Amino acid sequence: MSIALTTDQVTKIYGEGSSAVTAVDRVSFEVGDGEFIAVVGPSGSGKTTLLAMLATLLRPSSGSIKIDGQDLGRMKIRQRTRFRRQNIGFTFQANNLVPFLTALENVELMLRLNKSLNKDGRKRAKEMLDRLGLSHRLNNLPNQLSGGEQQRVAIARAMVHEPSLVLADEPTASLDTQRAYQVVETFANLIHEQKRAGIMVTHDLRMVTYVDKVISMVDGIIDQITTDRDSIDSMANTIQTTPGSDVLVEEKANSEPEPVSPEISR
Ligand code: ADP
Ligand code: MG
Repeated sequence: MSIALTTDQVTKIYGEGSSAVTAVDRVSFEVGDGEFIAVVGPSGSGKTTLLAMLATLLRPSSGSIKIDGQDLGRMKIRQRTRFRRQNIGFTFQANNLVPFLTALENVELMLRLNKSLNKDGRKRAKEMLDRLGLSHRLNNLPNQLSGGEQQRVAIARAMVHEPSLVLADEPTASLDTQRAYQVVETFANLIHEQKRAGIMVTHDLRMVTYVDKVISMVDGIIDQITTDRDSIDSMANTIQTTPGSDVLVEEKANSEPEPVSPEISR
């Protein structure tokens, strides 16, 4: 397995002086091709900030990020934008589907931005949606789709251009438990089969059942990295057996800054 992503002492400090907040604090880890990892932790622990830096949407205050051996910090803005479009796929909690484009067009948009919407690309977009169980929804607009279907379109869009790194921030936040399991399971299968490096931020520990490694964050710091299968499975089960616990509700109640999607808003 080759290494797709390396972070070395990555730190993000928002603001200055007495109002400075260290959102991510000296975070170092690696993700290999075909490896699916979860980043978990309470609200405010720095998960979204970390993901935004990996997506090249936010610059670290210090430390380095390498994707496919290339150091993001050494790239000029244009180069970084092109690198992002070609090598990285992402989906955020608010899935940012374009409301006036159909499911298929939303997925094809990623290829259009890369100037690779050719016959092969079109075929791959359809296959990807088919794989995610949406072949009967190709020509529907986002508002004609359920929350789970929209989330799956967003996953197809994040993977259609065959990026080496795929990032998902709370992909199940708007889904009921059964749909959440389905979405994450399919996502995991695609990551494994297509040998992408996948990172999912989740508030919902039950979803770690599909990942190979769990990074637990507390106050911007990596508290623990878990790779042992039994330990991961017991993390997933702890929450499940707690009566009445619903971590999804808690996530929704918290207001988070809306992530930007520079590709779409451009
Ligand atoms: P999580 O995704 O784990 O909930 P975030 O990365 O959103 O965590 O936030 C980590 C910390 O950084 C929190 O204390 C949050 O208030 C702060 N924070 C996040 N975004 C900003 C911002 N744009 N400006 C200032 N502080 C921020
Ligand atoms: Mg977040």
